[in-house]
Amino acid sequence: MDNCIFCRIARGDIPSATVYEDGDFRVILDMNQKMKGHMLVIPKEHYENLFELPEDLAAKAMILSKRVAHAAKEALHPQGLNLLQNNGEVAGQSVMHFHVHICPRMAGDDTFPAWGEAAISAEETEEIRESIHKEVNDEAAENPAE
Ligand code: AMP
Ligand code: ZN
Repeated sequence: MDNCIFCRIARGDIPSATVYEDGDFRVILDMNQKMKGHMLVIPKEHYENLFELPEDLAAKAMILSKRVAHAAKEALHPQGLNLLQNNGEVAGQSVMHFHVHICPRMAGDDTFPAWGEAAISAEETEEIRESIHKEVNDEAAENPAE
């Protein structure tokens, strides 16, 4: 993926503020940090989003995110931390190469969007629960975890 900016950053073709690198991932400071210590965990192989990402890399991405979050806690002493991972333009994804945002948080910082509320009825909530429950169990039966 020569035209993918994160492929080029992950490979090291483009310089980045790298905080960690191993065979599978590069972790960098976001070019436009939304808060102090805002980082991105980027797999070296190109997968567009969570739906495309193989389960073994998804597991590694979460373990590495935990390690980096812990390092940020030690280094920057944030009071909290968000993990964020956007999939699709409608969800705010602007770079179409899977990545996890690590967002250290301080009390009173207001650069991160607050959650709104969607006002879903109890009836619809039950329909949603049933439909996802069915899919996730069908999938688990067809593809037991690796
Ligand atoms: P997302 O909106 O979830 O796709 O996040 C993309 C993130 O990548 C944004 O926070 C951008 O600031 C960041 N970004 C885009 N280009 C670069 C780059 N060349 N180096 C570092 N971060 C970047
Ligand atoms: Zn890529």
